[in-house]
Amino acid sequence: MRTLQVALAERSYPIHIGAGLLDTFPLAEQVRGNQVMIITNETIAPLYLERLTRHFAASQCDTLVLPDGEKFKNLETLESIFDALMARRHSRTTTLIALGGGVIGDMVGFAAACYQRGVDFIQVPTTLLAQVDSSVGGKTAVNHPRGKNMIGAFHQPRLVLIDTDVLATLPQRELAAGYAEVIKYGLIRDPDFYHWLETNNDKLLSRDNEALSEAIYRSCENKAQVVADDETEQGNRALLNLGHTFGHAIETATGYSQWLHGEAVAVGMLMAVHMSVRLGWVDAALEPGLAGVLAQWQLPVTIPPGMTPDQFIDLMALDKKVQNGRLRLVLLRQLGEAVVTADYDAVALRQTLEAFCG
Ligand code: NAD
Ligand code: MG
Repeated sequence: MRTLQVALAERSYPIHIGAGLLDTFPLAEQVRGNQVMIITNETIAPLYLERLTRHFAASQCDTLVLPDGEKFKNLETLESIFDALMARRHSRTTTLIALGGGVIGDMVGFAAACYQRGVDFIQVPTTLLAQVDSSVGGKTAVNHPRGKNMIGAFHQPRLVLIDTDVLATLPQRELAAGYAEVIKYGLIRDPDFYHWLETNNDKLLSRDNEALSEAIYRSCENKAQVVADDETEQGNRALLNLGHTFGHAIETATGYSQWLHGEAVAVGMLMAVHMSVRLGWVDAALEPGLAGVLAQWQLPVTIPPGMTPDQFIDLMALDKKVQNGRLRLVLLRQLGEAVVTADYDAVALRQTLEAFCG
């Protein structure tokens, strides 16, 4: 087992990473009161729920199995969590445990932020995306019909428990979508990691456990540093959004139904790199190199057919990073050095969109 710390003063917490931790980590010792509620979904419950409940034979351990899907990440499901907590008389010293991907983690985290003005929660992420990204950093939310993640709070977990073995049951497409976020850390702030990923691509693709563990560890290390530096995204945390402004435009255009988030981010990162090359900021060889790796993971390197530059501009104008009417973008100054900036040549943006819109 390897352990990292997210350094946030009194809200600091560990991330434990290892094979088999679902069974071997002494989880009950980490819980303050004598009540826990493990919340998961109907896909994950038959795979892993029983193994987690076994830790809590000595406490009141309730379980709640929610329907699976982003479309259930809403206020109605949140209410069903509160109903269950109240029906089982959970007190302020209860601990909520999120067993699942980012949907479960975001929703259970938000429930923990709200229930009795805030209770403890533990993240047990089961997708690669949740292990390297959403379970770390304390952003919690549910969707509103008018916008994704619009209702939420910052609420840090007490600990993150990553059992790398659970990835064995994850569909390849989901693994690849999470991998896009792994590559992102290399691009924005860790060139050594980027090169390591290139060198170990074949091992990672074949799900070599040691290589995947290392990739998860180094991703969490990067995310933990960014979060410790800027917990509530006043500044550099926005660098984690490389490729996301382009990607969100694609997700919105396709109705959040055909593309996974990581897939949209993959081609979005390629667009950001392309634009950075056009601006003369990064080495032109980075673009075909990145495209090659994405293609090997069967991640998209082209945008959905029919999207136009004007449509991109319109959709990107809705981005949270728009300030005083100027669209700020995350771009690369060089490999491993990202910037959030509105100070770019608008022609380069136009040309980038034209290049991808074909
Ligand atoms: P997800 O939670 O929907 O999981 C993907 C699918 O895999 C689901 O069908 C799930 O049931 C299944 N699954 C999960 N673990 C499995 C396993 N071990 N074996 C087999 N199947 C398994 O999707 P996700 O990509 O993990 O998360 C996406 C969500 O994360 C989005 O709602 C997004 O907004 C959020 N997110 C949050 C943050 C943050 O900082 N809070 C960051 C990134 C993304
Ligand atoms: Mg993302």
